[in-house]
Amino acid sequence: MDQAVAAAVPVAAADRTPSPATAAAGQSPALPPPDAAGSTVLSGPVRLSTVPFGPAPPAAPEDARTQLTELEAFARQVAGCTRCRLHEGRTQVVFGVGDPHADLMFIGEAPGFHEDKQGYPFVGQAGKLLDKLLAGIGLERSQVYIANVIKCRPPGNRDPVPDEKEACEPYLFRQVELIRPKVIATLGNHATKQLSGKETGITRVHGQEQQIHVGSFDVLLYPLYHPAAALYTPAMLTVLEQDFARLPELLGRPVAAAEPAAPQLAAAVAAEPAVQLGLF
Ligand code: SF4
Repeated sequence: MDQAVAAAVPVAAADRTPSPATAAAGQSPALPPPDAAGSTVLSGPVRLSTVPFGPAPPAAPEDARTQLTELEAFARQVAGCTRCRLHEGRTQVVFGVGDPHADLMFIGEAPGFHEDKQGYPFVGQAGKLLDKLLAGIGLERSQVYIANVIKCRPPGNRDPVPDEKEACEPYLFRQVELIRPKVIATLGNHATKQLSGKETGITRVHGQEQQIHVGSFDVLLYPLYHPAAALYTPAMLTVLEQDFARLPELLGRPVAAAEPAAPQLAAAVAAEPAVQLGLF
């Protein structure tokens, strides 16, 4: 492990309160209606945030069932969204997948071709690498939650543009607040910059945890290289594996106390497989 990776440099806490465009100062950001007409009609298959594989989980306590219901309801709401131009070319909204009570949440940039078709994030080669990395620390996909900053596929897998990020940001913030993970691992440059609120690139901050404030609670942000980028760069894959190996330690840390007020969220942006630029 190189020194840059081994040295987990604490970074000053960042306050990821919603952008002025999505919330008035001092207020919770009003979540936008899913479309211009405020409709909640589903536009296609809804990928709810339930565990997709394995035996049925044990009965959840009452508060956990309520949380699941809220996340499901929210997924259905977002499924009809037409807030930005990306709804025009999508097959469906790719909301997210995994354990709705996960301690570890991964956030990428945006759905790619296969994600758009199947409705799940990280289903291509990058997803397979993510599964392999998870297995390396004793976890499987059903034990974490995986989402993207942008919920609809940009044409040709291009990078999302600022107004698309701004339009979709409240959805991610709300998603994070409902799941309330202990650790958010951002995958790649876009997600890291959006969640940290800083322009520092992933090559400088990967493997360096930082405390951020997301809506009503504090959470540990842990930037990682995007698996799609690591697929093509062996040296980057080695670093990603080393950074990944620290996740169990981070998940074992005491959780920061939540603040009393409960406004709404803060957000990120993610990246996608195949040939997509901006992952570094
Ligand atoms: S990318 Fe986000 S804001 Fe744009 S249409 Fe899809 S869900 Fe709505």
